[in-house]
Amino acid sequence: MSSVQEEKLAVLQDQVTKLQGQKDSLLRELDGVEERFERTSRLYRKYFPVIIDSIVAGDNSFSKVCRDLSAALKKEESDGKIEYIFEQLKTAMLKEDIGPSPVKKKKGLLSALMKNDSGSFIDEYKQSYHDVVNNLRSTLDKKYSGKLDNLTARIKTVQDTDDISDIRESVFSLVFIYISDTNQDRDKVNAFVREVVGKILDIESKVAHTYQHTDSIIQSNEGFESVLTGQMQDLKHSSDVASSLESLKKQVSERLASIEHALKQKQAKDAAIKDLAKKNRHSFLKGFEKLKDELDEATKYTEELEKKLNQDQLTGAFNRRAYDNKMEEEMARFLRYDSGFSILLIDADNFKRINDNYGHAIGDKCLQEIIKRSIPLLRKNDMLARYGGEEFVVIMPETDTAGAREVAEKIRQTIEKIEFIYKNEKVKVTVSIGVSGTQKGDTTHQQIFERADIAVYKAKEQGRNRVLVN
Ligand code: GH3
Ligand code: MG
Ligand code: MG
Repeated sequence: MSSVQEEKLAVLQDQVTKLQGQKDSLLRELDGVEERFERTSRLYRKYFPVIIDSIVAGDNSFSKVCRDLSAALKKEESDGKIEYIFEQLKTAMLKEDIGPSPVKKKKGLLSALMKNDSGSFIDEYKQSYHDVVNNLRSTLDKKYSGKLDNLTARIKTVQDTDDISDIRESVFSLVFIYISDTNQDRDKVNAFVREVVGKILDIESKVAHTYQHTDSIIQSNEGFESVLTGQMQDLKHSSDVASSLESLKKQVSERLASIEHALKQKQAKDAAIKDLAKKNRHSFLKGFEKLKDELDEATKYTEELEKKLNQDQLTGAFNRRAYDNKMEEEMARFLRYDSGFSILLIDADNFKRINDNYGHAIGDKCLQEIIKRSIPLLRKNDMLARYGGEEFVVIMPETDTAGAREVAEKIRQTIEKIEFIYKNEKVKVTVSIGVSGTQKGDTTHQQIFERADIAVYKAKEQGRNRVLVN
């Protein structure tokens, strides 16, 4: 054999050894995974029900799902059913703000195999999720910001496609909780969420497809490997039995030619697999972009619904529902952190007379104008709501009655100056305002309202168009 041929042979032999090694370690990894899965499965079926029963006594949503899980495990329900309950458990944990800290996972097989290629893929993916979370941040109210911060931090640490699916789940649980928490009339939105979840499954199946590529790569290596091994053995045999140098040369070059052919075939096959993976990745990202747009739309829709739900149709001010919620919130803050607040109860004076003299349409216009002129006099955190009829309330967080009184006086003076012209006649409207604030010993927000109501009553008695503190 020529030394060139010997060199080629040595290189090929080296490749065979490497491929063999790769295959062995993949198989070992697979064995390990199977074994671990078996062990965990046995353990949790045995011990979880006991643990759950002993620790779960509460009646929040998490405890309820825990009990469902325990019952399902005892009944030896199917893996599918158990997995479904685990999904609910995750959602409940997010809702109750409990749960284990994220465990750092071993790098997945897929990312190990796609290592060179997957860096930018993961980065693009992470960026997409950052966009989604930022978008949610601008829509969801403050009580979610802790969870969103947590998500942002987690996205930063993503290294693997496995980590991404965890994040995806959290995002959707969060959106789901938000949607079911903030509106009672959300059938449409819920249907939409179900649709979005369907799309997520679609994307998941594409990821699964990418996993299948991994299998194809392994198979392609295996095929090549067996051709190579066979040819090597033939070659060895030929050199043993060759009768002349000429025939040995001939046989060796024939074998080398078929090895080269197998190698070319393998390269072509690998290139095709890589190509397919690239295409899949592309459609995966495209699907994700679409999903993101739909999420944007869903959040926008929710936002609009939310606004409608809290808005008074005539004046555009907040409505009674928003008032009740805000008062509950402020009262809870007062009881917990002793952070007081004040309210103004604004009641239009002799409004019946305005309606009687000029008609209801003018009366409505007066109410709209009262709101329009008052809003610029308030701070960003104050809330102006229509309590009912011609009565409005301003809720002023972290404001004492002295500060609230100043604002009330400004409102009174501003309204007093408004003039409507009705059939060449000037229409004037004035308001009486009762001011009250949280006091030591208060336990419900109704107590604060009652004091403001008394103040309004006294202001009316004293001649109207005035501000009184109680
Ligand atoms: P007072 O100074 O004692 O508050 O006299 P008032 O006439 O304002 O008090 P009262 O509570 O007796 O009457 C309130 C009136 O406000 C009766 C009702 O017709 C009118 N009103 C309530 N809601 C609306 C509304 O949406 N549009 C119009 N135009 N009028 C309304
Ligand atoms: Mg009234
Ligand atoms: Mg009135």
